[in-house]
Amino acid sequence: MTAFSSQILESVEFAAELLREARYAIVLTGAGLSTPSGIPDFRSEGTGLWSHDRPLEVASLLTFRTHPEQFFEWFRPLAGQIFYAGPNPAHLALAKLEASGHLRAVLTQNIDMLHHKAGSKRVFELHGTLRTLSCTQCYRQVGYDNYLFPFIENGTIPHCPACSAILKPDVILFGEQLPHKTLVEAQREARECDLIIVIGSSLEVLPVASLPMQAIDRGAHLIIINNSPTYLNIRADIVLPEDVARIIPAIAERVLDENH
Ligand code: ZN
Repeated sequence: MTAFSSQILESVEFAAELLREARYAIVLTGAGLSTPSGIPDFRSEGTGLWSHDRPLEVASLLTFRTHPEQFFEWFRPLAGQIFYAGPNPAHLALAKLEASGHLRAVLTQNIDMLHHKAGSKRVFELHGTLRTLSCTQCYRQVGYDNYLFPFIENGTIPHCPACSAILKPDVILFGEQLPHKTLVEAQREARECDLIIVIGSSLEVLPVASLPMQAIDRGAHLIIINNSPTYLNIRADIVLPEDVARIIPAIAERVLDENH
């Protein structure tokens, strides 16, 4: 592992200082946090998941309702990658920061359960989750354990144990509303915080992309750790276009060292 340049090191130290001094720090995480865990950004092209001719259609609520088998065929490789993925050092560092009281909440656009697998507790999954599935007829909700593995291994489309209708993974598809309660809670977190760290999100998808704006409009500090520019880089205290799996643990290490 190569050492950080002095400029990056300075930003890492400053980020740790902001985190130590924060009264209420939160993070907003996106696909870039999970790419080191081997999970592609399923909204991006060129990931291999977009081999269908009309990608935005197949991951849509309309396709799910009219041709569920097409949806499930597309979803199967992604579900497999998610099912077998483990948290990377950045997920683990965030869980440690929460456990030590330095981080109050994780707002995430990811559906991959990796924050939970890493041990984070207060996680708001704004684009839904693969941890549960819901019946399209009777709305019964079931855990993923009994359904995801047979689907990934054999292509068995999950059916409701009560009424036999098709179960839909509780992930938000194109053309579907975000979970209202979670969004309201996330907005409350954004208003409450005095530091928000954006990690691995290009802030391109509304309404989630507006959450950091709500925070900084109330005076919160903003740190952005993302490979590509975002519309809020100009308003950030720190911008680190670096590898999240190296940067987040480096920041966390400095924050936690100060406790001793
Ligand atoms: Zn049902």
